[in-house]
Amino acid sequence: MTERHVGPDEPSVRSAPDLHRPGACAWPPAGSDISVLMSDPELQRLAGLIRQEEFRVGRDLRDELQVFQDRRDYALLLADFAVLSRNCSAKHGRWGGICVLTAGHENTAPHWGVTSQGAIAWLGTAPDDPEPGPSVPCTVA
Ligand SMILES: [Zn+2]
Repeated sequence: MTERHVGPDEPSVRSAPDLHRPGACAWPPAGSDISVLMSDPELQRLAGLIRQEEFRVGRDLRDELQVFQDRRDYALLLADFAVLSRNCSAKHGRWGGICVLTAGHENTAPHWGVTSQGAIAWLGTAPDDPEPGPSVPCTVA
């Protein structure tokens, strides 16, 4: 079986929306149920409180957990993949995979890492990002 390549003159490509224009793929799409929900002032207030608490706990744990950040930084410097492969794979919804603790720590400590805005601690993990391409829900006006 040969792979079929689609060129720019293909009818489906010519009629495709311009996904590179500003706002073409904003997520969540404007007007969607989730964007209406996310714009709710009470939800935004609660999200702000959660963010503050994540940074407060992150600061509180910094003296205890900074050694893990140092270990990760040193492993990156040496390209020590044995050490790096033992790191937790959890992701924060905003900051991604920044947890520097050893995998399996969830029963003893929250996820913890350092962002450009300071140390942060959180519970749970964000889902993987959707794959780019036609399977990503996108409404273009
Ligand atoms: Zn973790």
